[in-house]
Amino acid sequence: HMLISLENIYKIYKRGDTAVHALDGVTLQIENGEFVAIVGPSGSGKSTMMNILGCLDTPSDGTYIFEDKDISKLNDDQLAVIRNRHIGFVFQSFNLLPKLDAVENVELPLTYAGKKGPARRDRAVEMLNAVGLGNRIHHKPSELSGGQQQRVAIARALSTDPPIILADEPTGNLDTKSGREIMEILKELHLSGKTIILITHDISVANQAERNVHIQDGKIVNDVKVVG
Ligand code: ADP
Ligand code: ADP
Repeated sequence: HMLISLENIYKIYKRGDTAVHALDGVTLQIENGEFVAIVGPSGSGKSTMMNILGCLDTPSDGTYIFEDKDISKLNDDQLAVIRNRHIGFVFQSFNLLPKLDAVENVELPLTYAGKKGPARRDRAVEMLNAVGLGNRIHHKPSELSGGQQQRVAIARALSTDPPIILADEPTGNLDTKSGREIMEILKELHLSGKTIILITHDISVANQAERNVHIQDGKIVNDVKVVG
């Protein structure tokens, strides 16, 4: 069924007397279980799109329907509830807390969700095992490679079992081999039923999704199924 529906979304940034249309009338639907890449060059509106899709920001105009609910006019606290329940984030720069070890980083969203005690630790360890890092749970981020740090970040995103993973240039800071491994994990998550939304400027990364939505100057200029 339909998970996300953006209807004629605008995001306008005012600077002095000029206005930047970061999103300029975007209409997009994403179904449950899709693996879709939003792809475009620098400045095309990808970060803005990610912020709106991820309920980190609200549109200037237009309607955002999330699971049949209009969330366009929600305030920050209400958006946070949607975000925390439904979306796991993966960023280019991993965004791990440097003083915490791997398993403590993965436990953080569970802590915020009110989960306590051994069940919290068990779940975090389970997620690190799932991304192949069961033997590194007490390593700090500085003791892990970039690819390993990104796997910790994926385990963190999965800890609360959100239906959606929103990944912003997840391979952008990685060498080719580590990047491939991260894409393989995203593909497996897709096969397990997660909805994956991938934001990237890299067409070869985008082509590993099953659908490419091309964005340019804040507009969707192409929306294609990836063949092969
Ligand atoms: P991308 O992620 O594809 O590089 P962005 O969404 O960051 O694109 O930016 C789209 C356009 O909106 C760019 O012209 C950018 O300079 C502008 N923009 C983004 N965020 C802001 C902001 N907070 N204030 C003003 N302009 C912004
Ligand atoms: P990314 O590396 O993810 O593309 P950006 O450099 O585009 O990040 O943007 C970093 C932050 O600065 C974002 O929060 C974005 O909204 C904001 N931003 C981007 N362009 C501008 C701009 N022209 N003026 C003000 N803020 C901007």
